[in-house]
Amino acid sequence: MDYLPVFLRLRSQPVVVVGGGAVAQRKVSWLLKAGAQVTVVAPDLHPHLAQRVARGELTHLAAEFTGAQLAGAVAVVAATPDSTTNRCVSIAARERGLPVNVVDDAELSSFIFPAIIDRSPLVVAVSSAGHAPVLARQVRAQIEALLPARLGALAHFLGARRAALRRALGALARRAFWERIVSGPVAREVLRGDEGAAERALAREVLTSQLAAARAGSASGPGEVYLIGAGPGDADLLTLRALQLLQQADVVLYDRLVGPQVLERARRDAECIFVGKEPGGQGQQERIHALLVELARQGKRVARLKGGDPFVFGRGGEELEALAALGIPCTVVPGITAALGAAASAAMPLTHRRLAHSVTFVNGHQGDAAPADWRFFADPRHTVVFYMAVAHLAGIVARLRAAGAGPAHPAAVIERATLPQQRIVRGSLADIAALAAEQHIEPPALLIVGEVAAFAAAATLAGFSAPHSAVGALA
Ligand code: SAH
Repeated sequence: MDYLPVFLRLRSQPVVVVGGGAVAQRKVSWLLKAGAQVTVVAPDLHPHLAQRVARGELTHLAAEFTGAQLAGAVAVVAATPDSTTNRCVSIAARERGLPVNVVDDAELSSFIFPAIIDRSPLVVAVSSAGHAPVLARQVRAQIEALLPARLGALAHFLGARRAALRRALGALARRAFWERIVSGPVAREVLRGDEGAAERALAREVLTSQLAAARAGSASGPGEVYLIGAGPGDADLLTLRALQLLQQADVVLYDRLVGPQVLERARRDAECIFVGKEPGGQGQQERIHALLVELARQGKRVARLKGGDPFVFGRGGEELEALAALGIPCTVVPGITAALGAAASAAMPLTHRRLAHSVTFVNGHQGDAAPADWRFFADPRHTVVFYMAVAHLAGIVARLRAAGAGPAHPAAVIERATLPQQRIVRGSLADIAALAAEQHIEPPALLIVGEVAAFAAAATLAGFSAPHSAVGALA
């Protein structure tokens, strides 16, 4: 390691910044945020710096640099465009034993400014030791995307209660308790901006911990379940909240539709359990309910990962009911459902002012008892997306035709939407079933019918190319 990351307390401490340009102004901003007493040494000032001087936020010394100006300072920054001056500042600072940063010159610096994520009082600093500042900034952006905006409020909330909680819990205030607080309902309410609800959740956690300790001499509290939509396949289509909760979960229960790229985003040491259903498998759903309950009761944070959205043909509602009936806390995180993923990556809008004003998602595997009004589905200006349709294409087509749809009614089948293996078969009700069979289309795939199903063909011919859109057959 070339540099040891430390956090300097600069509140009310004198710091000298040599240079008055835009670069100096950025450093001054950070120093002022940290509460330093800043003196800028420069013949001329950037307008923003001049404004800050006028507001009394810093002192300006309109002069060339001399070593004597460093008297009393605790740190020095050189940010002039002139390398000779910067070198003089560096030497003068080192002679006085002062830490010095020379902007963009690691050799002349004894400390460097990291790329910073400011969720004060929580601060993340990233550095590449001057080797690749752009890379460091990119890493910062990636981490920043994972950190909830109100993380600082959470740190304040916990900080303000830390001592009192320690007293209330005594020896109980173990790491496991705090881990549950920072990633459970208390944190979630603060992050949502509802500190009243957070306060109530905290009181519950404390009580549960005390009761559990009284009962079993253990501080393990109730677990919880995150019902997370994993999106249609492409791991980049996970939501930020899905990523955040995947990073917290101790156990991940995942379905057949959740691919390895998505699972890789889970916490490194999380236990991943496959609970995919075999087609026609009986009793599996009940086994999943039982497993969810058992794990949560062990105090685990359980991520229940489902393809697409948990509430679209995902039986998420049933799992929520099972958990709610037993009072196990559950958070639902929406995901991009297959229809939306497929529409985007096949460049096929589901509604369009010229082509369709409404859209319906239908379970294509619904037997004869389906109550849906198929005359409505047979209108080409209404888009219908059939899930779980591969094995039932011929039956669906027959029912649409019987309800009045013509043979030229556009239809498309999209297999493995958003994944690199995505295939699209386009046709009409007259030939879509045969085309899909010819191409050996397999689940997971969607059938989309309506005018919009012919839309992307025109766009593709016009040279439009959507990411991943490998066109299997153009009818
Ligand atoms: N909850 C999921 C749907 C689960 S039902 C969601 O919101 O997407 C399973 C059906 O979803 C599959 O039979 C298929 O019709 C559809 N499906 C899921 N992922 C898909 C994908 N990547 N491409 C095409 N269809 C998909």
